[in-house]
Amino acid sequence: MTGTTTLTATAAAVEVHGAHKWYGANRVLDGVDLTVQPGQVAVILGPSGSGKSTLLRAINHLEQLDVGHVSVNGELIGVRRHGERLKELGERAILAQRAGIGFVFQGFNLFPHLTALENIAAAPVATGRATREEARATARDLLERVGLADKADAYPRQLSGGQQQRVAIARALAQKPGLILFDEPTSALDPELVGEVLAVIKDLAGSGTTLIVVTHEIGFAREVADLVVFLDGGRILEQGSPAEVLDNPQHPRTREFLSRVL
Ligand code: ADP
Ligand code: MG
Repeated sequence: MTGTTTLTATAAAVEVHGAHKWYGANRVLDGVDLTVQPGQVAVILGPSGSGKSTLLRAINHLEQLDVGHVSVNGELIGVRRHGERLKELGERAILAQRAGIGFVFQGFNLFPHLTALENIAAAPVATGRATREEARATARDLLERVGLADKADAYPRQLSGGQQQRVAIARALAQKPGLILFDEPTSALDPELVGEVLAVIKDLAGSGTTLIVVTHEIGFAREVADLVVFLDGGRILEQGSPAEVLDNPQHPRTREFLSRVL
């Protein structure tokens, strides 16, 4: 072997190392280190403004870190240290990595002028990963998987929020991602619709896909998470199993937060 780095099957699905991010004078990520193993479900908890969305966006390279780095499946896209310019591997590498990452937003973000089936089939066709017929067949399978086989031809406005979010999850799955990031996927939903979306996410857990879920649903975290992370003021104050973080929190801020959301 030469001196090149060898990637092995043991590479973490996601590794965030020494992540710092400022918006002007506002320090939003303040030294975040996070490792998520392949197939794990990580739940990120934390108060509003603690940097949860920024962290997810950094993992997907929608946001550039000021210091630190993120690697996905052992593949490093950009490294930056204090005072250094980002060694860009180029937009193409970022797009290639992002194509393997699904992102599900709080606000569903479906294309309003496309049916449920078309929303799911659009990206695989546009990126040349599937023919139109293949993409439509896959979309039907995915609609069935999220319990919406009968809604293929419905437009987003004809669907409830919970149904729209299940379509959005199916759309993410259509790209066969190894990693899916969920940013408060149930926060915009009426309470009675939260369960159906969480049930779909729960179904994905243990399927081999790595999931990182920002949510305030503590019951979901307790049931599904391998790793619970508590973020506050841009720092991870505590991380561990649900039993450790949720049932036996060590940090007063974690206790205070849990007492407010439980
Ligand atoms: P969370 O998702 O935990 O609520 P965010 O990551 O969205 O937190 O935001 C963390 C902090 O960064 C907040 O103070 C927010 O106002 C600020 N922030 C987020 N995005 C931007 C942006 N694009 N420009 C300036 N400030 C931002
Ligand atoms: Mg957020």
